[in-house]
Amino acid sequence: MGPPGAGKGTQAKRLVEKFGMAHLSSGDLFRAEKASGSELGRKLASYMDAGKLVPDEIVVELMAKAITHCRAPGGLLLDGFPRTLRQAKALDEQLAKAGRPLDAVVVVTADPEQIVERISGRRSCPRCGKVYHLTHLPPRRDAVCDVDGTALVQRDDDKEEVVRQRLATYRRQTEPVVEYYRQRGARIAQADGNAAPDEVTAALAKALDGLSQRA
Ligand code: AMP
Repeated sequence: MGPPGAGKGTQAKRLVEKFGMAHLSSGDLFRAEKASGSELGRKLASYMDAGKLVPDEIVVELMAKAITHCRAPGGLLLDGFPRTLRQAKALDEQLAKAGRPLDAVVVVTADPEQIVERISGRRSCPRCGKVYHLTHLPPRRDAVCDVDGTALVQRDDDKEEVVRQRLATYRRQTEPVVEYYRQRGARIAQADGNAAPDEVTAALAKALDGLSQRA
């Protein structure tokens, strides 16, 4: 769990490598559905592009199905889910029914102003997917891709007003979920996402020490 732009996707990829778990990202799942052009995809896009959460009943149904179908002998890392108390309670019920324990909650925190700067400066090439940052990783020529010269674009949900909306949503709806798990005595592995990515991974891996790790 973590606010948008804290690097939770990057850390999730590293942790699944390290611990040999399967990775299930609700954002990736929804983006794939959106890209398929289906009616459900269009519905998801209307929330995602506005920086809003997709309604709980849709999320819970899609994620319950994905979790059930996920073969994960080494465990499962849920990335971006649950994001509301209703989702967390639905997940608890599903895990209890399936007899699968929740081992830990991973939280990556970050300073909101740094997040706004980091995300709203992000641009990418619609042709090859290469990602740039206007200040930290600018293209050689103004606003075009170094690789193929295509004009760079900004993701709809990376626009500053949308990022601010996503941050407010996180504070209002998702932070209480971290508190919910804390009160239930769940093991919480937390790290500061403003640190260098390697440091964040090391801190999280240490906090998760004891979960079976790949050699
Ligand atoms: P992410 O890549 O995790 O930031 O997700 C991208 C977008 O997908 C979010 O801004 C939401 O609109 C939507 N989304 C992803 N996961 C959830 C969730 N658990 N609940 C509601 N909306 C979600």
